[in-house]
Amino acid sequence: MLVTGGAGYIGSHVVLALLEAGQDVLVLDNLSNSSLESLARVERLCGRAPRFVEGDIRDRALLDRLFAEQRIGAVMHFAGLKAVGESVQQPLRYYENNVAGSVTLCQAMAAAGVFRLVFSSSATVYGEPPQMPIREDFPTGTPTNPYGRSKLMVEEILRDLSLSEPRWNIALLRYFNPVGAHPSGLIGEDPQGIPNNLLPYISQVAVGKLKELAVFGDDYPTVDGTGVRDYIHVMDLADGHLKALAALAERNGVNVWNLGTGTGYSVLQMIHAFEQASGRSVPYRIAPRRAGDIAECWADPALAEQELGWKARRGLAEMMADTWRWQSNNPDGYRPASA
Ligand code: NAD
Ligand code: UDP
Repeated sequence: MLVTGGAGYIGSHVVLALLEAGQDVLVLDNLSNSSLESLARVERLCGRAPRFVEGDIRDRALLDRLFAEQRIGAVMHFAGLKAVGESVQQPLRYYENNVAGSVTLCQAMAAAGVFRLVFSSSATVYGEPPQMPIREDFPTGTPTNPYGRSKLMVEEILRDLSLSEPRWNIALLRYFNPVGAHPSGLIGEDPQGIPNNLLPYISQVAVGKLKELAVFGDDYPTVDGTGVRDYIHVMDLADGHLKALAALAERNGVNVWNLGTGTGYSVLQMIHAFEQASGRSVPYRIAPRRAGDIAECWADPALAEQELGWKARRGLAEMMADTWRWQSNNPDGYRPASA
């Protein structure tokens, strides 16, 4: 099994789950947004390390060598850049990394005769759906930024690929909002610089690294005016990947599954739940809406339950407790504490 981007936040949790399930794992990561410490901790947790190659999914020669030299039957493809704001500033970098990188990966897979692929997509491909909850058969929409468009483009490329060659079997996993960390507090999300996403921001405020949270808008047509999202525990997400991989053995073509819980929480509900779990206060102020944000977004997860036998089991309190354990044990993420 090749896992691209396996040193990253979601990838490291999936690598752990794969190793625990007895799979043989090769991680390819260029460490552009991660560190090897995540995989060292995976080894601490399960007593086994994945094989690791530092390299880039855009490096065709390297990919050809890996497919030739290693036993790879399937690919889980997490590698990509994911900062929405940065993608607006640097669209070519995002398209090159996320779109061209995925094309190169698929070319190398096809050349090597490996046709099983699990792709990290996102609920952002739905754009602004007219109703909730979001089902997989809703038409894809118009993502509001280059990051989102890169995900939609890769989905469409993978559909074309599957039409051209029936041996492909592909899972497009549309994640809602991944949060949380392994319950040990040893691996978790380690954003570089100021976090863009809500929960890493809240936890850095709680730990005292940031002063206050800006709540982007309190005049949305939602329960309390703040944005509503479907937050899903990364351990549940990891479990969904293993189930999707197993299901692909009996499926052809492109399969789309939402990975969400089916429940939405507002920004204010998230703040209060985090305060309860951490015993810390999270000062915030109301700020203007953030460009490109939608009011609310949550999944209908029924298809994944029906077809994969998967459903998210961890609730909000557990998401918050695990996030806090990771954040308070590792205030500087994977970087060693300064002496
Ligand atoms: P992450 O940044 O922690 O992990 C991505 C990993 O890919 C990093 O380790 C990075 O070093 C590596 N990488 C990036 N470009 C690479 C390249 N060209 N070659 C090799 N390695 C490369 O992000 P994550 O949160 O773990 O996300 C994993 C995937 O899931 C991404 O594709 C992301 O777009 C997608 N996704 C994430 C979220 C989220 O909220 N975290 C939501 C939906 C989809
Ligand atoms: N959000 C916020 N302040 C922040 C970051 C996010 O109020 O500093 C809000 C954001 O407007 C959205 C929700 O929190 O309603 C989740 O945002 P995030 O960026 O984590 O995920 P996404 O927008 O991609 O769903």
